[in-house]
Amino acid sequence: MRIAVVGGGVIGASCAHFLARSGASVTLYTESELASEASGRSLSWLNAAGPWPDHYFHLRMAGIDRYRTLLSQHPDIDWIRFDGGIFCSDEQEIRQWHQAERAHGYDSHIYDAGQIAALEPCVNPQALSSKVMVNPGEGWVSLPALIDWLIAGFKTEGGELCCDAGKTLPLTDEQGAVRGIRSARYGEAAFDKVIIACGAETPAIAAELGFPL
Ligand SMILES: Cc1cc2nc3c(=O)[nH]c(=O)nc-3n(C[C@H](O)[C@H](O)[C@H](O)COP(=O)(O)OP(=O)(O)OC[C@H]3O[C@@H](n4cnc5c(N)ncnc54)[C@H](O)[C@@H]3O)c2cc1C
Repeated sequence: MRIAVVGGGVIGASCAHFLARSGASVTLYTESELASEASGRSLSWLNAAGPWPDHYFHLRMAGIDRYRTLLSQHPDIDWIRFDGGIFCSDEQEIRQWHQAERAHGYDSHIYDAGQIAALEPCVNPQALSSKVMVNPGEGWVSLPALIDWLIAGFKTEGGELCCDAGKTLPLTDEQGAVRGIRSARYGEAAFDKVIIACGAETPAIAAELGFPL
């Protein structure tokens, strides 16, 4: 199976890595360098915090589960940590989030800002809202470091990386079936499948193919 993955953020790098590991012949195309968009700017917070519907909560918990698995399989990784999160906002929002999180069975606590010094001496309590939410099960990940790690494994499996490809879009045949890609720099190439992992650009590209997201 020849697969093109378009987009060099965390979603594209992850798809490319796991597809190459499963034996597919994979080429990753990205417009400029890796992690050039949202994945290079994330706050890195691994969490399922907030007053969201059950299905979204469970999706985010599944994501946290995969990060925990990755860390337990590679304990030498220093770009994922699970050492808790502190969330500041006005008291009404803190209480609303806290209540929703507890209803999901999520470990969430409300502290006075003054209590934070005992927990985190590096945080200035004066800079916090009067009440803060402390969620000990949360963590952080450096997405650029994760992407580098995924791409190193991808290359080991024979994956081909095409950076600075410029705009890359799927090509379709007369029946509308995807038959490959065309990139501004590398031209046309035939593939059996094309994965669009273009972040904020994905809905527009999918819509062009007749799939409104
Ligand atoms: C400021 C900020 C803070 C955030 N904080 C958090 C956080 O704390 N926790 C959290 O979980 N999430 C956070 N997020 C969200 C998280 O960063 C994104 O959900 C995630 O990085 C999206 O990854 P992606 O691979 O889908 O998209 P992107 O990282 O945007 O990658 C898409 C890639 O596709 C490329 N591309 C687009 N169109 C084309 C094309 N036609 N041809 C070729 N390449 C193309 C782009 O150049 C880019 O490299 C934050 C986002 C931002 C912006």
